[in-house]
Amino acid sequence: MPFVTNSTDPDIKIGCRRAVADLLGIAAHETSHAAHYYHVGRNTINNTTAFVIEGWATFVGYYAQEAEYSDLNIHSYLHTPYTHSLGYGMQLYFKEPDAFNYQSWSGGNRVYTPVFIDAYDDFDQTYWYTYVKPRQPLPNTALPVDQIGQGGFGALNASELQTIAFASRNRADALNKIHIALERKYNRDYDEDMRLFRIAYERLGDESNPMYQ
Ligand SMILES: [Zn+2]
Repeated sequence: MPFVTNSTDPDIKIGCRRAVADLLGIAAHETSHAAHYYHVGRNTINNTTAFVIEGWATFVGYYAQEAEYSDLNIHSYLHTPYTHSLGYGMQLYFKEPDAFNYQSWSGGNRVYTPVFIDAYDDFDQTYWYTYVKPRQPLPNTALPVDQIGQGGFGALNASELQTIAFASRNRADALNKIHIALERKYNRDYDEDMRLFRIAYERLGDESNPMYQ
């Protein structure tokens, strides 16, 4: 994981033969590591767990892809649209969970979690896995509550999340700061929402284990 090997050699490598969205996402991901490092400094980054560092870079990669494809008005090329019929001519529109929106992430791929994406986006995994493509029990990386924002729309924005990521040292720290920021922003109690929101991330085991560093 050392993404800066010394002061003159930022270790950013991007391979070819990847989808364009991948290249964009990876470039943003690695640049975000450099920005994170620059902002908080070496001592702090050395005392920050990979859960925070990679979770944040995962968000920035995702954010850059969403922003660029939206700007170019080609967002439908990034994700596969899915229309869910409610009957009576009523429909809901989704994007299929995919590797780009991280709604379908691997519990084995432990530190690259969508924790900051889930605090930001409007995709409701609970609804998706319960009503659209039912799966019981829920996949163990699905969030029992994935609508922590009012109505599920962008609970916290990118700037608020960056402040949280840069100030967090580990998973507990990041989740607590998300909790506090939500209560402050929306002026209501988020204890139960956050208890459920935490479950998928707390299944990831001991983040101090060197294998995750
Ligand atoms: Zn990374």
